[in-house]
Amino acid sequence: MNQIVLATKNKGKIKEMRELLAPMNIEVLSLADFAPVDDAEENGATFAENAMIKARYYFAHTGTPCLADDSGLEVDALDGRPGVYSARYSGEDATDKTNNAKVLCEMEGVEREKRTARFRCAMALVGDNIELTTDGTCEGLLLTEERGDGGFGYDPFFYVAKFDRTLAEMSSEEKNAISHRGAAVRKMAELIAEMMSK
Ligand code: IMP
Repeated sequence: MNQIVLATKNKGKIKEMRELLAPMNIEVLSLADFAPVDDAEENGATFAENAMIKARYYFAHTGTPCLADDSGLEVDALDGRPGVYSARYSGEDATDKTNNAKVLCEMEGVEREKRTARFRCAMALVGDNIELTTDGTCEGLLLTEERGDGGFGYDPFFYVAKFDRTLAEMSSEEKNAISHRGAAVRKMAELIAEMMSK
């Protein structure tokens, strides 16, 4: 396998995944390198189901082994929401800003110790006779005010105690080292290496 297509149009994710896959000597393409196609219907109930739906769909479209991730934020005080709805939590025209505003509004009055949350990422690789899956998590606390201007999505509110910083205050290398996506990609890289050595 010398090429992989990433099943995402999110520029933040493409940048992170390219960095994470760089050591693998595999050319990383994006959907922009192929003919346009309708978005996959992400109607799974879990991150893992959605990752597999996307990887199968874009492999069928591109004929190139496809690596898809599905990820999101689970907030304990919100019974796990926004979960699989993280990207569009505030509606069809959602932006990072409106999503963050909605979560913060729902968290109003929740004291610091109860503001625990985690990012989850499920990853699926689908190619000819290949279906691999991995996952990763990143634990933190949701702040009441944003800090930092790096990353994307919920990063400015997501505080990681061990580093005394939000994900948006970290360099991309620092975030990749501890992120849910970093963990899932590293596990996937191990599975790919194992498969290629057989
Ligand atoms: P997906 O593209 O369906 O996986 O949606 C993921 C959504 O979850 C993104 O649009 C973000 O809102 C959120 N998300 C996932 N990973 C991250 C991250 O690393 N930082 C901040 N937000 C994230």
